[in-house]
Amino acid sequence: MSTIKGLHHITAIAGDAQENLDFYVGTLGMRLVKRTVNQDAPDTYHLFYADRDGSPGIDLTFFPWPKLPARRRGWGVWDEVMLGVPKGSLEYWVDRMNAFGVSHSGIETRFGERVLPYEDPHGLRSALVECETYDAFTYRPWPDSPVPQEYQIHSLAGIRIFVRDEAATADFLARAFGFRFETAEQEHWKRYIVGGGKAGQRIELCVQPEIARGSWGTGAVHHVAWRAGDEAEQAELASAAASAGAQPTPVIDRFWFKSVYLQEPSGALNEIATDGPGFAVDEAPEALGERLVLPPKFEQHRDTIEGGLPPLSVSQALGR
Ligand code: ZN
Repeated sequence: MSTIKGLHHITAIAGDAQENLDFYVGTLGMRLVKRTVNQDAPDTYHLFYADRDGSPGIDLTFFPWPKLPARRRGWGVWDEVMLGVPKGSLEYWVDRMNAFGVSHSGIETRFGERVLPYEDPHGLRSALVECETYDAFTYRPWPDSPVPQEYQIHSLAGIRIFVRDEAATADFLARAFGFRFETAEQEHWKRYIVGGGKAGQRIELCVQPEIARGSWGTGAVHHVAWRAGDEAEQAELASAAASAGAQPTPVIDRFWFKSVYLQEPSGALNEIATDGPGFAVDEAPEALGERLVLPPKFEQHRDTIEGGLPPLSVSQALGR
């Protein structure tokens, strides 16, 4: 049986697009590797932040929808996004967040690792986690980042979720993706892992009977995408998910990768995404993210689409 390799990307809902860019590029030092539109709603941006190359496993992407109400935490919606940083780097990050006025709750220990929880400017619950990456994961530092290489975010580390029925979700994650229970601690949180359980190979589940159903809104995770090496592996994983009770969509060509979407038993949205072809398929690697890129089917509407989007400046985010 195939298992997922780890996280591929995480997509969340932001408020104002420039504020989102200022935070992820200017404060967190990630690279904008793709500036495009939501393929299901081309009047909104879809912004991708990652390492230098946009490697699968470090992409954090956003739909800026400033008019939505705020998200509500609860079961059925992915909760905290964890980003991996090198060991010993959290003191640097505390100083940086203080300098930029980011609301954080100080360094804590979870599952034996040092973690810095914070919220992004639009309420996305997040944490930096000192952890290691797995062997089949590639990370390339971004030389132009305002954050020195030795402190840069190197991966998506994991994701937290409240579920309604732990056994149902755990059984589904095992059968569809290959996750297994690892350990429980941290109040009600339990960690499930795939592969060696390194950065990107973790889900932390929590069951709280008093918690209500969550809802999407500004500051919510929209979906979590998992890595399938190629289309054959993706088909195998989608079929395992269907056997486990999900209803996977047909394969959708997202141009930079191919995607299948499905819900886990609480309703949270998952995607199985192929590694390739990657973000350099339509832009030179040194120019990633500089201009608005449209999938071919939208190219004929470029003027209308560009005219409807707010201006966005990486130089402004970098203060350069
Ligand atoms: Zn996606």
